[in-house]
Amino acid sequence: MLKGKGVSKGIGIGHTKVLKTEEIKITDFKVEDKENELKFFKECLKNVMEETMKVTEKLSGTEADIMNAYLMILQDPTLTSETERLITEEGYNAGYATKVGFEAVEEMFRNMDDEYMSARASDIQDMKQKVLNKITNKAELDLTNLPENTILVSKDLSTSDTAKLNLKSIAGIIIEHGSENSHVSIMARTHEIPAIVGAKGIIKELQDDEYIAMDGSTGEIFVNPSQEEIDKLKKIQDDLKAQKNDLSKFIKRKSITKDGYKTEVVANIGSPKDMDAVIANGAEGIGLFRSEFLYMDSDAMPTEEEQFEAYKEVLEKAEGKRVIVRTLDIGGDKDLKYMKLDKEENPFLGYRAIRICLREPEIFKVQIRALLRASYYGKLAIMLPMISSVEEIRKAKEIINEVKEELKSKKVKFDKNVKVGIMIEIPSAAIMAEELAKECDFFSIGTNDLIQYTVAVERGNEKISDLYTKFHPAVIRLIKMAINGAHKSKIFCGMCGEAASDERYIPILVGLGLDEFSMNPTKMLSARKMIRSLSHKECKKIAQEVLKMNSATEIKSKMEEYIKNMEK
Ligand code: PEP
Ligand code: MG
Repeated sequence: MLKGKGVSKGIGIGHTKVLKTEEIKITDFKVEDKENELKFFKECLKNVMEETMKVTEKLSGTEADIMNAYLMILQDPTLTSETERLITEEGYNAGYATKVGFEAVEEMFRNMDDEYMSARASDIQDMKQKVLNKITNKAELDLTNLPENTILVSKDLSTSDTAKLNLKSIAGIIIEHGSENSHVSIMARTHEIPAIVGAKGIIKELQDDEYIAMDGSTGEIFVNPSQEEIDKLKKIQDDLKAQKNDLSKFIKRKSITKDGYKTEVVANIGSPKDMDAVIANGAEGIGLFRSEFLYMDSDAMPTEEEQFEAYKEVLEKAEGKRVIVRTLDIGGDKDLKYMKLDKEENPFLGYRAIRICLREPEIFKVQIRALLRASYYGKLAIMLPMISSVEEIRKAKEIINEVKEELKSKKVKFDKNVKVGIMIEIPSAAIMAEELAKECDFFSIGTNDLIQYTVAVERGNEKISDLYTKFHPAVIRLIKMAINGAHKSKIFCGMCGEAASDERYIPILVGLGLDEFSMNPTKMLSARKMIRSLSHKECKKIAQEVLKMNSATEIKSKMEEYIKNMEK
């Protein structure tokens, strides 16, 4: 049995199509007519661009976004500047100049710290291949006509090749390289196609048309599987299907416990495009719109108009359900290239989120104006990230009021009662919850940051990730303080950190009285199912017991045991 890393769950059974990419041999020589050579290169590039645009036009949603990002790189002058220099200044032939020029850019991407950006190196490699195909007049692979139940096996699958696939005929994808963040992995998850990456040596091992089976969760690959193996995998496939069917029952149901305790299961989003998944999974609203993604997806600060359109689109699609938009939460692990923030020793403890907005109100005011104008189109709430003190809420509200006055004087319509809440993601905010609750309309607990600041473990540090745990008694006590603080002032308290969707944690949160659970849309239905199977009375008892415990390991085992017993 071969093995890789499962990145998109599901079972794939079918026949292989192995894509073996041949290296094009490129020789270097000098040309007489540099101008003509440059023209030839530009024509080849233009052809690639036009073909890519044609593919992109047929796409929508995530695929279209991915291809548009690909096109943006393809149109960026920095991609071709070295190639053009090699032709015009040094007189090299277009083929050699393309190879060397594109490889320099590929190397630059590969060395970027940001995992997503470094995964884009394979896009550049793909673009180079396509331009070289044009230069050497080589035909491209046809991926549009694959037979049904094809298991596609490839060294890497470029963004543009992925976009060309007829997904209906694909039963699974196996990639020799790749990562969880590769576009092919993202696409596979979006379309629920089983996928495995990092299957080392797979290209050498397999030929076309071999019968294989794969498990997209475990990363297992079975060549010529036995009947016994097939039966086992089909059983897993049936179970997954049954699970999905079972969950679809919960789309329109309320998020209420067996004994009538009402909560809400709402969605975390990063863009208006996520609204399809939000609606398909029956969200009761949006608990967190991470607005910084609008800023991160752009080459410059998004204008008031661009932001207004994005917020309005989400509000209209939410059809009157509450949409909580978090104001710019940049800094820490989220960088804005065009903002040129200074390098800091400890960025997580540094210049970020509300700290930037209060010191650079001209940036904050643009966003607040866009938000207030959009508030006219639905039930909008504004959430302030990284609040650590009452002064910060007061100062932010002062700015919000200034913008309100400005809009009033210009007779611009907006919701005068728009709610303003805060994230509880810094321990000082949880400790001061009672006081902070008097200054705002709601809380949402951000456990992703709250955990890191409580136990002093950076959230992305793999080496000490065992210490980063939501089961730490100090974290649970801070959550309790936040919820109690909110309830004392009769405001609601939600949670939008990852912990809100963990079934081992939900009983504790219900027991502590959390009002709203906000999470990735794909997780909402199982969370709602879980809440509906709980008794609030029993959860209160569990929360009390957990609060008396002093070890994360014990709390975690207790909750795992509880879930196991529930399943019986
Ligand atoms: C959090 O910190 O829990 C949170 C939801 O915000 P982010 O993950 O965007 O920092
Ligand atoms: Mg956070």
